[in-house]
Amino acid sequence: MVFGPRRKVIFVHGCFWHSHDDPACPVAHKPRSNVDYWLPKLERTKKRDQENIKALESEGWSVMEIWECELKELDSIEERLCSFLDG
Ligand SMILES: [Zn+2]
Repeated sequence: MVFGPRRKVIFVHGCFWHSHDDPACPVAHKPRSNVDYWLPKLERTKKRDQENIKALESEGWSVMEIWECELKELDSIEERLCSFLDG
């Protein structure tokens, strides 16, 4: 989702693919098998996310991240969205 005139962008991340590092996250479990394959792959995705966000912020964009597991709590997301877009 991109809000052009306001230069705000919202990412919705899948917790597994984007390694949500909230200990309360029920989805972002680390893979237990094929760890040698998965860990570098997930690390690269995470690094790319951070680089994207840094690049956007350096161009004056505000970035908000929403995680897959947070979509269950729509009320709190709505609140954060409103204050993000108004702020
Ligand atoms: Zn999560």
